[in-house]
Amino acid sequence: MSDLWIEVDLDAIKYNYRQITSGLSEGCRLMAVVKADAYGLGAVEIARSLQEEGCTAFAVTTISEALLLRAQQISGQILVLGPSSPEDWPVAVKENIELTMSQLDWIPVLDKLAAACGVKAKVQLKIETGMGRTGFTGEQLQELAALLAAASQLEVTGAYTHFARGAQQDREYTRTQHDRFIEALDMLATSGIHIPQKHVCNSAAFLDHPEYHYDLVRVGTLIIGHYPSPAFAGRLQLKDPWLAKARVVYVQKVPKGTFVGYQSRYKTKSDTTLAVIPIGYADGFGVEPKLVPQNIVDLMKIIIKNTAALFGIQLGKETLQLKGKSVSVAGKIGMQLTVLDTGQISCQPGDEIVVPLRRTQANPRITRMYIKNGAKYKVRVINENFLPYNAERRGDKGT
Ligand SMILES: *Cc1c(COP(=O)(O)O)cnc(C)c1O
Repeated sequence: MSDLWIEVDLDAIKYNYRQITSGLSEGCRLMAVVKADAYGLGAVEIARSLQEEGCTAFAVTTISEALLLRAQQISGQILVLGPSSPEDWPVAVKENIELTMSQLDWIPVLDKLAAACGVKAKVQLKIETGMGRTGFTGEQLQELAALLAAASQLEVTGAYTHFARGAQQDREYTRTQHDRFIEALDMLATSGIHIPQKHVCNSAAFLDHPEYHYDLVRVGTLIIGHYPSPAFAGRLQLKDPWLAKARVVYVQKVPKGTFVGYQSRYKTKSDTTLAVIPIGYADGFGVEPKLVPQNIVDLMKIIIKNTAALFGIQLGKETLQLKGKSVSVAGKIGMQLTVLDTGQISCQPGDEIVVPLRRTQANPRITRMYIKNGAKYKVRVINENFLPYNAERRGDKGT
């Protein structure tokens, strides 16, 4: 049994799915975005649970992520959102995986590869409207239409764009992006390109713009129980499926004035107990995403926080929980070990500590323990599933 694991509550995932789909507009389906290993929760388990709830559309970033889902009996629509390379297209096409096309010269290449495979390749067109990342621009549409008209082995199943400022609730920018998208579709329609599925919304736009729901909404963040920004909190009632835990592996009673850790950054202020837990920055603990100030108040907060850190004072850090009480980190977080000052709380090896660990930063090596129908049903190391596609795994039926 591991001394470090993450509990992922699949019942909470199903609950969130029902909450989100109850807010869908008429005729609109939810496409579950399970990229980056379902934001760290485990793509296969999350997709399976959603499929059990009736979800029939999934999206990931890469072809290897898509092939993994197929190999694990995810049978619905699977869309690859990111750019991909032609060498991986034949296997994707054979597995009925939809590819995003966002570059003109890919169209004839995929058409030829699909012909060689003897199947039609399903593609979705990505339209660039203001994200500045990938997609066809307005000037390319005429040529795109001509290339598609000549590509007999391609089946266009949809077209989409991605909003840059949904989470900031910049309605004007979002509207501009939306209007450009609709204009692009009108232009393609004039050139005889029919688009069955139109979709533009991520989690933020799903909540803020029901008028943009169209045929699909691409939702990830809400499914895993997060909100796109604090401003959205409470807009839907969601459950948090994620709990990272570590067991205390070493305990030491120390006198006041004991130095702890690298650079002796910490010195105990009284006689106390130090507890060691087997998690560190290599596991993603204490690793913060780069802070980008949204306004002047934010900027001040970041400056104060970083200045304090320079003097060894950690402001606004999340605390760990031991027996329901807060304990804090003593000194610098190590690569795989962290010391806690438990103060007056009695502590023994084997005690459980609840650790604040960011989902997308959590190392895939950490064991995930899934909870289903109220029971802990399975423990395994998830990174087997996170490796690039490998045909041998097709034998692995999972549960
Ligand atoms: C990640 C992603 C989504 C999902 O975004 P959330 O805000 O997590 O719901 C939707 N569309 C695209 C293209 C994405 O890359």
